[in-house]
Amino acid sequence: MAKKINLPKTGLSKNDVFNEMKTVKEKDVKWKDGKVWCLVFSAGDELSDITKEAYNMFFSENGLNPNAFPSLKKFENEVVAMTANLLGGDENVTGTMTSGGTESILMAVKTAREHYLSKHPKSKKMEMIIPKTAHPAFDKAGHYFGIKVIHCDLKDDYRVDLDKMEELINGNTILLVGSAPSYPHGVIDPIEKIAKLAKEHDILCHVDACVGGMILPFAKKLDYNIPNFDFTVDGVTSMSVDLHKYGYAAKGASVVLYKNKDLRRKQFFVYTEWLGGIYASPSMGGTRPGGAIAAAWAVMNYLGEDGYLKIVKTVMETSEKLKKGINKIDGINIVSTPEASVIAIGSEELDVFVIGDEMSQMGWYMDRQQDPPSLHMTIMHAHHKVADKFLEDLKEAVQKAKKFTIGKVADKVKVSLVKGAVKVLPENVVSKLTSKSSKLLSGKGEIIPKRSAAMYGMMGSLPNKGDLNEMILDFMDSLYDA
Ligand SMILES: *Cc1c(COP(=O)(O)O)cnc(C)c1O
Repeated sequence: MAKKINLPKTGLSKNDVFNEMKTVKEKDVKWKDGKVWCLVFSAGDELSDITKEAYNMFFSENGLNPNAFPSLKKFENEVVAMTANLLGGDENVTGTMTSGGTESILMAVKTAREHYLSKHPKSKKMEMIIPKTAHPAFDKAGHYFGIKVIHCDLKDDYRVDLDKMEELINGNTILLVGSAPSYPHGVIDPIEKIAKLAKEHDILCHVDACVGGMILPFAKKLDYNIPNFDFTVDGVTSMSVDLHKYGYAAKGASVVLYKNKDLRRKQFFVYTEWLGGIYASPSMGGTRPGGAIAAAWAVMNYLGEDGYLKIVKTVMETSEKLKKGINKIDGINIVSTPEASVIAIGSEELDVFVIGDEMSQMGWYMDRQQDPPSLHMTIMHAHHKVADKFLEDLKEAVQKAKKFTIGKVADKVKVSLVKGAVKVLPENVVSKLTSKSSKLLSGKGEIIPKRSAAMYGMMGSLPNKGDLNEMILDFMDSLYDA
């Protein structure tokens, strides 16, 4: 049962409000010191102060109606144009801003659906083919828009298998997807080949550059070896790029881009019969925060190409240092060959989740991944200061994991972690899940251990994925209660 909470009868003082917020904030992950490898992108206080100032200046304005706010119209159109330009777009490439990568992807899929329906008006069976590594936002889009999602196998290097992708194409295919790079392992799918395949079969091709779109173009300029992944590739018809990641905009800022205006038009929604007047909206939301649009414009103009290059140089150098350092540690390795700054740590012989637990004990915060079990790291600007300390601690964690596995863990957790069946869950979530799932698991007489490594193992051993789905839904019910 949800706890009942009343609106305070009389309002609190400003002091009381802020004091309480400060108190609860203390328990949040501390990302400023560089110990967190996900969730918050920052390139220092000076830059975020500028972003905040711009956000505040347009705090109240609403991007739903650009006619009322020519300022926001200008900002949005310029942000989209600058982004298109960075990603090799010609003068036809266009798009809109959205609230984030998920919305950009939802819109690209919706556009692909409308495009397909314009050619096959009676079609009821639509499919899109995405690599197994593609972001779940595509699965969400399939779920929302009634499109079947086909998950294509990968090659040994974790890039999508082109032959398999080709075999999966049929008359119902509306969209092929590649990531630049993929979130789980940071590798860029063979975009040129995917786009060629799409073009040959006359279907659309989306490149998900949500995490990569604001770093890869600069890394390329800095002479890092980045394969072609953007609109310069013939056959690419849409892209998603998050500005609230490596663009350092305020959260709630992403761009979805299309090859031309005809495609973008299929994203728009218009309803002309409403008693409230003619309603037109470019994307999922209605009201759109002016602050997020203005802040994106401000940060892009403030940094300029030089500014981004400088930040990207630091991030790429830190990434190279970490990749080398990690691969040097006996027992673990970087999964595949990530081109940029998103990486995963795996192991052939050790339980990486035990290593993850040891790292957590030392205050590091990394996401856990499955298939193969790995620890995820998005390398950000703040990490250049902590890279050496990280490598030192990692070495120690690996040593501990070596002792750990040989001894007790193997029999205690009688599960195959390699067959892990669990999606990324932050570790604090997992520990809460433990209590929820004890009912489910206790039937088998298992003892639920405290550490997350064992928990992941157990979830992986659930015979029925439906159980896991229900468990997570139960957990979400509890998460969204006061
Ligand atoms: C972050 C990310 C997304 C989703 O973006 P949100 O802003 O979290 O909605 C999609 N694809 C990739 C590759 C990402 O890294």
